[in-house]
Amino acid sequence: MELHGRHLIADAPSADAADTTFTGVDPTTGDALSPPYCDATDAEVDRALAAAEAAHSQLIDLDRESRAKFLEAVADGIMGLGDALLERAGKETALPAARLTGERGRTCAQLRQFASVVRDGSHLEPRIDHALPDREPLPKPDVRQMHVPLGPVVVFGASNFPLAFSVAGGDTASALAAGCPIVVKGHPNHPGTSEMVGRVIQSAVRAAGLPAGTFSLVHGRGHAVGLAMVKNPRTRAVGFTGSLSGGRALIDAVATREDPIPVYAEMGSVNPVVILPGAASERGEAIANGLFGAVTLGVGQFCTNPGLVFALDDENTSALVHRLEALAADAPDGTFLHAGIRTGYRAGCDRLDAVDGVARSGRADGDGGPGGARATPAVYTTDAATFRDHPALAEEVFGPSTLVVRCPHRDDLTAALATLSGQLTATLHATDADLLGAGDLVALLRDCSGRLVLNGFPTGVEVCPSMHHGGPWPATSDVRTTSVGTAAVRRFLRPFCYQGFPQHLLPDELKDGNPLGIMRLVDGAWTDDA
Ligand code: NAP
Repeated sequence: MELHGRHLIADAPSADAADTTFTGVDPTTGDALSPPYCDATDAEVDRALAAAEAAHSQLIDLDRESRAKFLEAVADGIMGLGDALLERAGKETALPAARLTGERGRTCAQLRQFASVVRDGSHLEPRIDHALPDREPLPKPDVRQMHVPLGPVVVFGASNFPLAFSVAGGDTASALAAGCPIVVKGHPNHPGTSEMVGRVIQSAVRAAGLPAGTFSLVHGRGHAVGLAMVKNPRTRAVGFTGSLSGGRALIDAVATREDPIPVYAEMGSVNPVVILPGAASERGEAIANGLFGAVTLGVGQFCTNPGLVFALDDENTSALVHRLEALAADAPDGTFLHAGIRTGYRAGCDRLDAVDGVARSGRADGDGGPGGARATPAVYTTDAATFRDHPALAEEVFGPSTLVVRCPHRDDLTAALATLSGQLTATLHATDADLLGAGDLVALLRDCSGRLVLNGFPTGVEVCPSMHHGGPWPATSDVRTTSVGTAAVRRFLRPFCYQGFPQHLLPDELKDGNPLGIMRLVDGAWTDDA
């Protein structure tokens, strides 16, 4: 596929743009990657969302089998791009081929999982309460509810998952599965990868005979394009993965709309890990190895990266910390997705370095290399009192570093945990004996997070129906929802109720004969009977 560098608005690429503003950049060399891309104009954003709005009225009535086949066709099309997609993504992000191959598999698996969800139909949660005309003192009307799509969704591609959380990633798959048209803002650091995947979706839209506005992709670097998208009156919801500042800016922009809409933003997290004394004594070295692997996986560029560790201040913790320090001293540098992440990582490390009572081990940072994106892993240690006195130590440092907080007493540990803000995940390392007295810790970690991992590590988020990838603010903007797993479809649906309708005007999902054979709550009991 030869890249043309244009926006994909409904069924056509945008016209040539003279005011070229950015290119992809190879983070290992700093070299620009052709072709050039330009910021979408307000008129182009509006055209994409007008087409999405027009598509909504047709998509809402699209049968579920056609929608499922469309999602599968997108997955087939992505596989059909072959190695060219992985090569372009590798050039734009410095992610290794093995990682990108796995991520492509996850992307396609997500699309296929959502196709199954659509076919199954239970995500629509049909509910039927038959009329009771003779009920006293008042008759009961016939009331039927199911979920319907919200309408045009704006999706922001994430930098750290150029496939699985970008143009055809989780937000896109879940919004399309819900039946919503989407307009994606490609992440400016992998525009070529975005274009390739976007053209696959555009082709699948055409081949399925769906309305052209089902999908659009616009490019932009700088905040104007994204802000225009979320403020556009036709936008009905937003899916975002990225920084806390970016997510907050979008939430604030939406709050100034005449009709505020939901913003599902997945932002920062430090993912605390608690190591209890029995576990530190029994398998401290294995925990250190696993922890360091999780901290440096993907050059630390995961929202589930464990950035804070709490343990009692004893000899087993000393041994565990020494092991972490040895691993950090030997670990090679990695290359970040883009030089901007190194700037943020350096600022975060500088913040830790500046605190009296925080010690750094590992090698000193290099100069960033030719692309300005080289990353050096670091392990920091501090004590509970310093942690308590410096709340900024609990803020995310996005990259391959972690801070171990050594707590003299168990009370210091629980007091430190009680100060944590919302997290995507928390992790507990404990033996059976440790767990006997750990009810308070489990409760504290449950209250501040969306997923609690026992004797494992939080990176490597399984994509499955039971997964929850969300958490209290500031991990996400809506604690009730997930951005990974099939439950993500709920974010883009709303309940709708038909009262007193004749059979022929009801959707098949709500007809008495249950022609689709799906699970429904009928007069208070779940059944797939007619
Ligand atoms: P980002 O800066 O938040 O950007 C994500 C998307 O949002 C981009 O399309 C960006 O485009 C847009 N954006 C950012 N700030 C905006 C604003 N104020 N108004 C409107 N649009 C805005 O994230 P990133 O580029 O992926 O990485 C930067 C930092 O985000 C990292 O250093 C890390 O701290 C964090 N991050 C977190 C996660 C996570 O999973 N939680 C993932 C990736 C990154 P424009 O810049 O063109 O506006």
